Amino acid sequence: MDVNDVFNNSIKELNEFFEINWVENLPELVIVPDRKAIDELMGMKTEDWMVGWINRNKVYVLDSKSYEKESCHKYSEDEYKKLIKHELSHCYFLKLSKYKSEPDWLWEGTALFVSGQCKTRERPEKFEDFLEYYGKKSKYVYRESGFVVELLFEKYGKDKLLLLIKSLGHNEEEFKKKFEEIYGFELKYENFN
Ligand SMILES: [Zn+2]
Repeated sequence: MDVNDVFNNSIKELNEFFEINWVENLPELVIVPDRKAIDELMGMKTEDWMVGWINRNKVYVLDSKSYEKESCHKYSEDEYKKLIKHELSHCYFLKLSKYKSEPDWLWEGTALFVSGQCKTRERPEKFEDFLEYYGKKSKYVYRESGFVVELLFEKYGKDKLLLLIKSLGHNEEEFKKKFEEIYGFELKYENFN
């Protein structure tokens, strides 16, 4: 596997999905050798599930060669490609939203859905906690959010999803209003189940 090919393919697919023609000043992919280097770069002790993150236009991922040794995840080429695409999709999200990354469930959900990671994750029986993750960062945000975005995409189409990302405001109240305006229903669990 050539990470440059993975990077270039991801850019091509993400340009198409987000309807952005991003060709110059592309994000930079940084391969991080091990957990120690991750902790140093993040400036904190990270948990073993954390294998990628972004900082503005820089995308960091744990090296495929130390992936299993330095994380709790099983390595496969397919999963690793999805990881790179996941992190890159955050850069596209930022570009589209003019640097807004909340609600966290939409931020992570979009990355999970667009990267294809939903396909290998367990589908929750019902949606019951994703709305808790507006500004709160939690590893549990990954459980439902990808499937919420999948539902929004499949049932209401991509245009509304992109419009929602483009219209992100500054607080939760504003977001709820925007959501209702775009989708025509309230942001409540009962409307997703
Ligand atoms: Zn993410």
